[in-house]
Amino acid sequence: MSTDALTALAGESLYIGGGWRPAAGEPIAVVDPVAEQPLAHVPSATHAEAHAALEAAHAAQPGWAATSPITRGAHLRELADLIAAHRDELADTLVSEVGKPTAQALGEVDFAGDLLRYSAEWDRRLEGEILPGETAGEVVHLLRAPVGVIAAICPWNFPLAVLCRKLGPALLTGNTVVVKPSEIALLRLIAEHAPLPPGVVNLVTGGRETGAALVADELTSMVSFTGHRDTGKAIMASAAANLTRVALELGGKAPAIVWRDADLDVAIPAVVTARHHNAGQVCTCAERVLVHHDLLEEFTERYVAAVESLRLGDPRGGADMGPLVSAAQLAKTEAAVATARGEGASVVTGGGRPAGEAFATGYWHAPTVLRDVSAQMQIMRDETFGPVTPILGIGSLEEAVEVANDSRYGLSAYIFSRDYQAIMRTVDALRFGEIYINRTRGESLHAHHSGFGESGIGGEDGKWGLLRYTQIKTAYHHYGED
Ligand code: NAD
Repeated sequence: MSTDALTALAGESLYIGGGWRPAAGEPIAVVDPVAEQPLAHVPSATHAEAHAALEAAHAAQPGWAATSPITRGAHLRELADLIAAHRDELADTLVSEVGKPTAQALGEVDFAGDLLRYSAEWDRRLEGEILPGETAGEVVHLLRAPVGVIAAICPWNFPLAVLCRKLGPALLTGNTVVVKPSEIALLRLIAEHAPLPPGVVNLVTGGRETGAALVADELTSMVSFTGHRDTGKAIMASAAANLTRVALELGGKAPAIVWRDADLDVAIPAVVTARHHNAGQVCTCAERVLVHHDLLEEFTERYVAAVESLRLGDPRGGADMGPLVSAAQLAKTEAAVATARGEGASVVTGGGRPAGEAFATGYWHAPTVLRDVSAQMQIMRDETFGPVTPILGIGSLEEAVEVANDSRYGLSAYIFSRDYQAIMRTVDALRFGEIYINRTRGESLHAHHSGFGESGIGGEDGKWGLLRYTQIKTAYHHYGED
């Protein structure tokens, strides 16, 4: 969707019960991270509007659940076709709003469509179980029932993919959804070209207040949230009041372990990508690099050369890396580097805003490599979510595992080695939900994406992610004996 079209959405951004409506709440600016200019304003939905969206979803849910999974799967395929047909404009919106390079935005659009198609494939595969009864003439059915109304609360870093990651399984299994914040452009397309029955998908825009209103409302059956760890904790506390289910996909502090026998031709490009994709703003990004002392000098030298060769610039102009998404994200990254310096880390390259006229406006931060770090420094403990790589030398696998596991987070980890036994022992010992071995980031949508520790409760994708949107209903059939 073009910037003009986005601007045209201003004031009419709530999609409730199958229709768009103007909103009463205060407008929030959506800012272009390159030009630092507002692209559009979206309203912050009030409590009453959030409740109205939940009411629409609640009213639509029994009817939607009564359709066959085949019908629901057909809707998801239609949505995936729609995404493919509008690939370029959706990607353009992502570039405008997030500042990610066009190639990465196109990758997100394709991934979003694939997530919907994968969920659709479950239309003929949803299974229950049949068990023998306690007595003769009895059989027990375990049925997969929908949970009800899902509040899908999404982050800004993959606005389209994370939305489809929730929409696909939620809708296929018979739930209805209220989305916040939104990939407004996708909801536009759905409304105009492939309308679902009214109330099946609803949209409310807004910030913390709107999200909190959805969570606290007793009409919400389950909150499917992706975002910051601290927000996840606030959501879980609030959801406790109504015993609302939560699925929380939170942040990470992924270690990348480069073992003594690692192939640096594999490890270096893999870690560079795993650190700098979307300017470092990915939950699975390599956030701390642990390199065996024998390779430390060579790794650091070659890694620095590789990040210095990354092309920064216009996300539409073939750059490898664009700006950070917002002034707040830039300030957070700059503060993380300043704190690391204060704690004794040395900056090998980067360190702040890149030089040059092209970077005078926009939320730019140069790829930054730090050495002389210790495992206790804040840069090694808190999620940075920016293009900063602290490199720490390690002497043994035990030490690497100890440093890696000494974290409240447990989403993803990376291992680079040619020693199968060392790799498998490390996999066993790491307390992380998603481990990449001799490759860069990028999960498979038919596998499972889940965090250990404070990286989340739940897990998305694949069979187990889909079934999370169901609950088991047990029916005892007593038909008696002759
Ligand atoms: P965030 O937690 O600030 O915001 C996420 C969403 O929650 C937004 O829509 C926001 O408006 C809403 N929100 C904020 N406070 C709320 C409250 N009290 N109640 C209900 N909703 C509330 O996160 P963000 O900055 O948008 O995203 C970045 C974070 O997301 C990072 O930590 C990143 O690691 C994480 N993330 C995790 C995954 C994953 O799959 N594990 C994927 C992408 C991003």
